[in-house]
Amino acid sequence: MTTMLEVTGLDASYGPVQVLRGVDLHVDEAEVVVLLGANGAGKTTTIRAICQMVDTKGSVTLGGAELVGTRPEKMAGLGIAHVPQGRGTFPELTVDENLQVGAFVRKDRAHVRGDIERSYMLFPRLGERRTQLAGSLSGGEQQMLAVARALMSRPRLLLLDEPSLGLAPLIIQGLFARFNELNREEGVTMLIVEQNANLALDIADRAYVLEAGRIVLSGSAAELRSNDAVRRAYLGF
Ligand code: ATP
Repeated sequence: MTTMLEVTGLDASYGPVQVLRGVDLHVDEAEVVVLLGANGAGKTTTIRAICQMVDTKGSVTLGGAELVGTRPEKMAGLGIAHVPQGRGTFPELTVDENLQVGAFVRKDRAHVRGDIERSYMLFPRLGERRTQLAGSLSGGEQQMLAVARALMSRPRLLLLDEPSLGLAPLIIQGLFARFNELNREEGVTMLIVEQNANLALDIADRAYVLEAGRIVLSGSAAELRSNDAVRRAYLGF
């Protein structure tokens, strides 16, 4: 397995408040890795630290190249697509325009239209609403659009921050089925922060548990699923 993302000794702070303390994790090529943890554990901060959106110390490499010190706006060009918590689409643009914007870093302009049509096959609801303003979509549709838009950059690594937040159970299941498809059929590598641990572990290869800014447990999805502490804290049985 080739390591795609390697995080070593990562500290992150908001001003004087240190949130991450020596986080080590890695994501191999074509893997799905889930980051679990209670509210406030530092999951979003980990994603933001990887994208250099917060003050960080330590090392984050993508395909061996160091990201610490890189400006956040360079991440898309390096192959990282980030779907932030609470979505991140342009409400005043249509669905189709949002997808076009998602492809702005690409040089192969000729293939962009074809990929937009592929997004509509992956998320048929978006196809039906291609001329609708993103701001008028339902929460679930906006989440699909945020993911589809991220994929338009043809990322090497997709970072998803609580994609299920605020969505109905059926929509969540559909969304995770799509993540699974994208990984299995197109080999998209993913790091997912998710409160819905059951569903996330279903599609994940491996998982990490973050507590108070430190990784306290890691293993295969099956190992974590059968761990008593994980079951009690995150799986609810
Ligand atoms: P949740 O599951 O509730 O989203 P999380 O694990 O993603 O939680 P983070 O959002 O990473 O947690 O927050 C970790 C800690 O950092 C929390 O104590 C939070 O209050 C603090 N924090 C987050 N953003 C900021 C900020 N901009 N300024 C100061 N502190 C912050």
